[in-house]
Amino acid sequence: MADRLGPALAEPLFGRVAIIGVGLIGSSIARAARRKNAAERITIADCSREARDRAAALGLGHEIVASAAAAAAGADLAILCVPVGADEALAREIAPALKAGAIVSDVGSVKGAVIAAVAPHLPKRAHLVPAHPVAGTEQSGPDAGFATLFVNRWCIVTPPDGADANAVERVRGFWRALGSNVETMTAAHHDLVLAITSHVPHLIAYNIVGTAADLEEVTRSEVVKFSAGGFRDFTRIAASDPTMWRDVFLNNKDAVLEALGRFNEDLTALQRMIRRGDGEGLFALFSRTRAIRRGIVELGQETAAPDFGRRAGEDAESAT
Ligand code: NAP
Repeated sequence: MADRLGPALAEPLFGRVAIIGVGLIGSSIARAARRKNAAERITIADCSREARDRAAALGLGHEIVASAAAAAAGADLAILCVPVGADEALAREIAPALKAGAIVSDVGSVKGAVIAAVAPHLPKRAHLVPAHPVAGTEQSGPDAGFATLFVNRWCIVTPPDGADANAVERVRGFWRALGSNVETMTAAHHDLVLAITSHVPHLIAYNIVGTAADLEEVTRSEVVKFSAGGFRDFTRIAASDPTMWRDVFLNNKDAVLEALGRFNEDLTALQRMIRRGDGEGLFALFSRTRAIRRGIVELGQETAAPDFGRRAGEDAESAT
């Protein structure tokens, strides 16, 4: 099987990289960075003993510690890979340990709120360069990660005003080494785009699965028994990590509410088309959306396979 990550780098991009939070994303970064030789040493920190034990068993880092500050001490790059609601406390905790020139980055699905929570706590000697790999699955924890998760996926880097250009370029280079296509934009723009492409779709999935579960007549095993393709795909998305998604909605309130407002208006228009028997209107919309799906497949961001291309099991690797 061709190695989708490509050959290892001749020289590591960073000396020591600290990965704080070794869940799906943190463990995937660890696997990919080790395989690509993107870091000389990888130190992993996680508050969960179980996650640390699994990370050790999987050989994900050179050192695995409980304390985030201990991991950040001496790190050239510290990446916060925890639910975004935990970032502020973490920034406060690691700040005193950061060395001069250290880069602090993150992988949060929300950017504006993360910058507002983290930046005030970092010392001037450190550089903040937030990033969001637009790649994931509905799984959590160190066992769920895999080295090729970021290959051919976007990673959006959102440097705050006045960010150090060299630090930004180094973070961009790190993600490129992990196989990502890298785009830079403002945090506000990121949050608006992701609200409509990711956050609201997750909310819709949580809602439809919750509604189905509330319909007593169908829940008596019929939701499971007759779950056709459409509903099954919603249940997959609605199985995503509750802590992570709670934090996303609480931290991207304005953009999500704005996108939801638009969604509700369009849903009302659809309702009207059905009530009025407007087959032409329905057909026109469904044709337009089908073309959008084809465009996404053509861009290589998705496959036409009915499992939505997320065959994590096939890509998953054990340790490095
Ligand atoms: P995950 O699998 O749940 O892993 C998070 C890990 O961080 C857990 O082991 C957790 O321990 C640990 N943790 C929580 N607070 C901590 C703290 N203060 N110090 C040290 N460790 C801590 O989460 P994930 O899916 O990798 O998501 C991590 C981040 O990536 C989130 O910000 C999310 O928005 C972003 N992201 C996720 C996806 C996705 O598809 N999942 C995609 C792109 C970006 P406990 O379990 O004990 O809390």
